[in-house]
Amino acid sequence: MGDIVPDTLEIIADQVRKCTLCKLCEERKNAVPGEGSSSAKLLFIGEAPGRNEDEQGRPFVGAAGKLLTEALEEAGLSRKDVFITNVVKCRPPNNRVPTDQERDSCRPYLERQIKLINPKIICVLGRTAYEALLKGGSITSDRGKLIEHKKRFYFLTVHPAAVIYNPQLKPVFKKDIVNLVDALKKIESKKGSLEEYL
Ligand code: URA
Repeated sequence: MGDIVPDTLEIIADQVRKCTLCKLCEERKNAVPGEGSSSAKLLFIGEAPGRNEDEQGRPFVGAAGKLLTEALEEAGLSRKDVFITNVVKCRPPNNRVPTDQERDSCRPYLERQIKLINPKIICVLGRTAYEALLKGGSITSDRGKLIEHKKRFYFLTVHPAAVIYNPQLKPVFKKDIVNLVDALKKIESKKGSLEEYL
């Protein structure tokens, strides 16, 4: 009987790069498995790679990524402290919303990443991630909330690309990230009440 090889983020990333489970593999330049700390306390999940991400094989490196990085830094964190990935790991043509079939094919990779990283809070970036992870409805109405689902904490906020289209959302998004870091501190210290968030 062979030894059971423990799962790792590198194994997942290799499999994602070679993945042919859906048609998005046909047009991708690079799959984008995600990046960051394997022991991150915060895991950020967006929709799918865009053009820049497809070119570089890295998540959130375009305009939306710049905003996310800026918001993290203003909240006292660097990208290296967190893990950043997407519901779907390959770019949909013309940045269309990924189909259910594409989300379902990619799902096991995301589940394995969540299990391995075991973050204290998953930050849901935008509608597609909200739908995929929590069957959520309007992210605009629900953003800013910390919710508990199947023994995990999820913090909901708008997608940074939505902020690019609607700059009025910028302070809202940045404040959400500050509140997220604050919620993490409370969860870690087990001081104070989470009730105000839940
Ligand atoms: N939008 C996303 O949802 N993910 C990325 O990686 C980049 C843009």
